Amino acid sequence: MSHRGSVTDRLVDANERYAAAFADPGMDARPVLRVAVVACMDARLDLHDALGLELGDCHTIRNAGGVVTDDVIRSLTISQRALGTRSVVLIHHTNCGLESLTEEFRHDLEMEVGQRPAWAVEAFRDVEQDVRQSMQRVRTSPFLLHADDVRGFVFDVKTGLLREIDPT
Ligand SMILES: [Zn+2]
Repeated sequence: MSHRGSVTDRLVDANERYAAAFADPGMDARPVLRVAVVACMDARLDLHDALGLELGDCHTIRNAGGVVTDDVIRSLTISQRALGTRSVVLIHHTNCGLESLTEEFRHDLEMEVGQRPAWAVEAFRDVEQDVRQSMQRVRTSPFLLHADDVRGFVFDVKTGLLREIDPT
């Protein structure tokens, strides 16, 4: 099924241009810098540009809020055990959409569709506290091999700067 002129078509067209100039770098799937970055899906955060990352450098795991959910632990476990990463960088950001939501979102959703989602919204009020909680979830996961190099940051969407959050 095709919707000519849709945003997806625009992406597919861009891909054709990308592929035309693409040369297989012959890389291994294991991230060169042995790092996994967990970040919010926010459209204003360009992880590769913001962190000076090149193709092949890292794993990027993104979701709403950059929250460390069970599924993020799943990806981190595979990242470390099957693909050799050792460091974890967590990035939340200022002005996150999750700051304006509450667990009421889940309740309202249930009222609307007649089914309660299995997941938590993971809304938060205090971004620093949420980064700390995320670091804690990574550090205490029994599935990960490397929990000693876990650092958390808040990306400022106005300045582009990262601010590190003290884990305690
Ligand atoms: Zn966000």
